[in-house]
Amino acid sequence: PGTLYIVATPIGNLEDLSPRAERVLSTVDLVAAEDTRHTGRLLQHFGTRKPMIALHDHNERERYQRVLDELQAGKSVALVSDAGTPLISDPGYVLVREARALGVKVSPVPGACAAVTALSAAGLPTDRFLFGGFLSAKRSARKAALESLRRELATLVFYESPHRILEALADMADVLGDTREVVLGRELTKAFETFYSGSLAEVIEALQSDAHGTRGEFVVMVRGYEPSGEPQSESALDEDRLLELLLRELP
Ligand code: SAM
Repeated sequence: PGTLYIVATPIGNLEDLSPRAERVLSTVDLVAAEDTRHTGRLLQHFGTRKPMIALHDHNERERYQRVLDELQAGKSVALVSDAGTPLISDPGYVLVREARALGVKVSPVPGACAAVTALSAAGLPTDRFLFGGFLSAKRSARKAALESLRRELATLVFYESPHRILEALADMADVLGDTREVVLGRELTKAFETFYSGSLAEVIEALQSDAHGTRGEFVVMVRGYEPSGEPQSESALDEDRLLELLLRELP
């Protein structure tokens, strides 16, 4: 069988397309894309054209089958999404799984991913992080999801759309507390790249007072739960009081 390449594309800045991604995209037999017009423009940008097939996770079975048939016939296929790394809050999971099950070689061609890009410059702990993808569009489900993450120690990372960013931040402030540290990465690698950081309360205010604040694409990163917060300061208080009492007993 042929090879299925999983090719990352830029999340804004076209210079982030790697030379290897460019070579793979110009040598494969078929490009499976989320949006063929969008990907067509990217290919055109570096002067290539390819047969393309539109693929979503909810696609009809026959689309996948066609791609799998091509692979089994020895053709090579590149899977790309509109931006960043395929399968990361983007389609492709079903195709990769089925290709693997058929013994097709699946080979990643790494590149930009908004979550990792944002984390790399946020200044939050990155030794452990939990990628939460998109929170629900429904408030109750969103709050329930946040509730389940309230005591998570790892840094939390979410994708959010511009028209829901303020609502999502407000729910985070409600559930996680408005003093929890948050960093927003907006329009990363693009002309209006901006980072907002501070407590949830501060960042909500900063977004509201910025005329362009709620435009563009966002990665939301929230500092993990710090158990040292309330309980330990209580015990520190106890220690101080204990010391005070002991000191009184000293001659
Ligand atoms: N597969 C992509 C990746 O590797 O990052 C993510 C696709 S997901 C459908 C799109 C979301 O990613 C956006 O709603 C936004 O939250 C985030 N995103 C993508 N590009 C971004 C950018 N340039 N700046 C900030 N966030 C971005």
